[in-house]
Amino acid sequence: MSYNPDNVFAKILRGEIPCTKVYEDDHVLAFHDINPQAPVHVLVIPKGAYVSVNDFTATASDAEIAALIRALGRLAAELGVAEDGYRILANVGANGHQEVPHLHVHLCGGRPLGRMLPKAD
Ligand code: 5GP
Repeated sequence: MSYNPDNVFAKILRGEIPCTKVYEDDHVLAFHDINPQAPVHVLVIPKGAYVSVNDFTATASDAEIAALIRALGRLAAELGVAEDGYRILANVGANGHQEVPHLHVHLCGGRPLGRMLPKAD
C-alpha cells in the first residue's frame, strides 16, 4: 500500500488538526488517543511517511527506528505505567484491523488489560 498523505495522523503532523501532545523529538510524535481504551492510551508515531511496520522496518533509518523504540520506553516511565505494566501494539493491515494508514504504536496501561486477544473458538 502506498502512503496516503491525507490520513489523519499526517494532518496532525502538519498541524492541520490538533492533538494532545505528550512527547516529540526529531523523529517521533506521541499524543493521546482521541478514544482511549485505558486510563493511559497514547499513540506513538514516526514523523516519516510510513504506512505500517512493513515499510518502516524495510526502509526507515536506524535513527528513526531507534527513536521510536526509545520513545516507547521513555513514555511508559513518564506516564507512570512502567512499574505496573502496560501493552504496546501496532495494528497492521486488514487482518490487524489497522484504521489509520500511518504507522502508530498504541501504548496502553493504567489498569489490568486482560488477554491480548479474545480466545479463539
Ligand atoms: P488503529 O485501529 O489504526 O490501530 O488505531 C487508530 C487509533 O487512532 C484509534 O485508537 C483511534 O481512536 C485513533 N484516532 C483516530 N483519529 C484520531 C484523531 O484524530 N486524533 C487522535 N488523537 N486519535 C485518533
